[in-house]
Amino acid sequence: MGEFDTICAIASAMTNSGIGIIRVSGDDAIEKVDNIFQGKNKLSDMDSHTVSYGHIVFKDKIIDEVMVLVLRAPRTYTRENTIEIDCHGGIIVMQQILKAVIAQGVRPADPGEFTKRAFLNGRIDLSQAESVMDIIDSKSALSLENSKNQLFGLLSKKIKSLRESIIYEIAFIESALDDPEHISLDGYEDRLLEKVKIIENDLKKMIDSADNGSMVRDGIKTSIIGKPNAGKSSLLNLLSKKDRAIVTDIAGTTRDTLEEQIMLRGISLIIMDTAGIRETEDVVEAIGVKKAIDTIDDSDLILYVVDSSTKLDENDKHIIEKIKDSNVIVLLNKSDLNSLVTEEEISDMVNGPVITFSAKNGDGLDILEDKIDEMFFSGILSDDHEIYITNARHLNALTNAYNSMANVKYSIEMSMPEDFLSIDLMEAYTQLGYIIGESIDDDLMDEIFSKFCTGK
Ligand code: GDP
Repeated sequence: MGEFDTICAIASAMTNSGIGIIRVSGDDAIEKVDNIFQGKNKLSDMDSHTVSYGHIVFKDKIIDEVMVLVLRAPRTYTRENTIEIDCHGGIIVMQQILKAVIAQGVRPADPGEFTKRAFLNGRIDLSQAESVMDIIDSKSALSLENSKNQLFGLLSKKIKSLRESIIYEIAFIESALDDPEHISLDGYEDRLLEKVKIIENDLKKMIDSADNGSMVRDGIKTSIIGKPNAGKSSLLNLLSKKDRAIVTDIAGTTRDTLEEQIMLRGISLIIMDTAGIRETEDVVEAIGVKKAIDTIDDSDLILYVVDSSTKLDENDKHIIEKIKDSNVIVLLNKSDLNSLVTEEEISDMVNGPVITFSAKNGDGLDILEDKIDEMFFSGILSDDHEIYITNARHLNALTNAYNSMANVKYSIEMSMPEDFLSIDLMEAYTQLGYIIGESIDDDLMDEIFSKFCTGK
């Protein structure tokens, strides 16, 4: 365990709410808070994981009526002695209590410092520490699920087992080189090649999962396209209805693009260029179509809205041509009117399901939700042992490790000397170590934890 000073922070949100929590962690956390606590019990006499009712009294003045939780090392979040003061959740009262704690010689914590200590004191590894923030930041149920899997150590376990198999081979090569009389490398390279292929394959799977990973974390990048008047903005309005969606406006890169996040059954859709969609009918037709088409390449999903009350025309053909290689769901909109377009007519031309739909009365919305679920997340995360890479730092390390394994393969094929193999194996081992926080430098650690909120 490291030697650290005692730190404190307001752990609950800095807004008025029912309950506020002040967290104190460090060797003398309990004694320091005892100085300002008056209750039936002295905190220092209390057993771990027990609660006491009382008051915070500072400079002879009662600041608040509180419940204080005593948590003794090592069974705590940071593995240090920890106190949590539950007080009334007003900003001023929380600040006054914090001030009283600081006056006892306790230092205000940096962002993420409690979690950093959990990491430095060996309770969790770095990937687990990073997942804590992902849990707090989760924008969808799926994203939360994935972050929890990471916190529970699924990624760490996988990385550790890969590292174990790599270090075994390094040790074998090194011992054979040291003691060629007793350990023979005859036929070893064939065995190693088999192993390298397995490891490479495992790494590749994780790297590929990052595509889904970003969808899990941030949402499915979705474009709504269709010719003017097809019902695009009506669809957007339907999807963003308050009772089934959370809508946030995210300013886009240019002045007139706007993204909205929409939640459907725990899945987050990032609807791109909603400014373009919401342009009114008097905007020149060509521009509306063109703008939407610009977003196609960047989309995970295209919702193609067809006005089924009019025949397909040149605009539709143009769009169909552009989206033929994309993931598309076709909405045959205005199904409440007389239909002039059939499902068969269109399903031959596009790569995806066709749904009879009405943005006006919501018909087909359930089927749309089913289809999105099926297309992107069928089985995703249903298997407890699955983890999706959502963190750029992890992806980078995995890619470097993968490249090193490819070098090992190459060296074997080129019959290079064994110490070449061991260098690249070592590089893969080191890269994987970065994910769980082995041998990372202080600057990187500071950068990672500085993104946390204070009190976590
Ligand atoms: P956009 O130009 O593609 O965004 O189309 P809008 O959403 O503005 O819709 C164009 C017109 O079609 C509006 O008058 C809508 O009320 C109407 N509309 C949209 N969806 C439906 C639908 O499902 N049924 C009917 N009857 N009208 C619709």
